[in-house]
Amino acid sequence: MIIKKRGYILMGEILSISEVMKKMQQPAHMKNSTNEEVESGLVDDPRYPPEPCPHCGRLLKYKAYSIFGKLFGTHLESCNCPGTIAERERFLQEQLEKQREEENRRRMERIERLFSQSRLGRRFRQRTFETFEIRDYNKKALEIALDYAKNFDNYKEKGEGLYITGGYGVGKTHLAAAIANYLIQNLKATVIFGNVTTLLGRIRYAYSDSSQYEEDQIMKELYDVDLLIIDDLGKEKPTEWVEEKLYTVINQRYEDYKPIVVTSNLELEVIEQRLENCGGAIVSRIIEMCRGIKIVGSDFRKEKLSGGK
Ligand SMILES: [Zn+2]
Repeated sequence: MIIKKRGYILMGEILSISEVMKKMQQPAHMKNSTNEEVESGLVDDPRYPPEPCPHCGRLLKYKAYSIFGKLFGTHLESCNCPGTIAERERFLQEQLEKQREEENRRRMERIERLFSQSRLGRRFRQRTFETFEIRDYNKKALEIALDYAKNFDNYKEKGEGLYITGGYGVGKTHLAAAIANYLIQNLKATVIFGNVTTLLGRIRYAYSDSSQYEEDQIMKELYDVDLLIIDDLGKEKPTEWVEEKLYTVINQRYEDYKPIVVTSNLELEVIEQRLENCGGAIVSRIIEMCRGIKIVGSDFRKEKLSGGK
């Protein structure tokens, strides 16, 4: 059996063109040795009669390659008519297209993995920079958050994060989620997003299961992820245990120069009072690690209910 154009037979194996080329490559010191030279020539063998070019009808002969004087493969000589050239070009384009599709598929898979690791729910995946509702009072905050996402590599290097504060419904969480979405969609970083309860509640679950291993695993994820986003800090009053875990995570990231982004309705002084056990320590770390953004403005959600301004 002869595989035309696309494949070659070598010692019973069907090989692609590149595999044959590889087998034909010889070390330089062997190149002059006559009995190892690769020869190629037209086959004059009735078992391989010429075939007409499907495009121009010219009779094409089989070509054989031999090595050590032995025939090791044959293929039809190629035609140089416009039809054949166009077909070759089409074939190349198809291959490139397939390659692009495959790359795209792999990219989507990686994005999907990053999303599932990030714990961003479906609702938060819609909160991107594109869907952010710009108002005069939040324009500056948007600029800072966008710059942060676009230049994350620089901020990551310095371990620098953001503390986004403001009243209800001014878009704090939206901006934090937009940063996460941007980093994931562009495959720039691993992200974990959640509030104190969802981030640390899993540990409590692991703890109740008396599985130290699982707790270590969860803590390790929170230490290692490129960007940890803690949404709505201070909304709930955590237990002493959760507060301590939260401090451990933030402090570990501080020591490793790993950034955090925090959103909260509360001023830092209020958080400090609210977190009775480690509030002071947590707040002082946040101050050292984060640039503050304060959004002062009206509540989007109320605006919408009242039909906007
Ligand atoms: Zn032809």
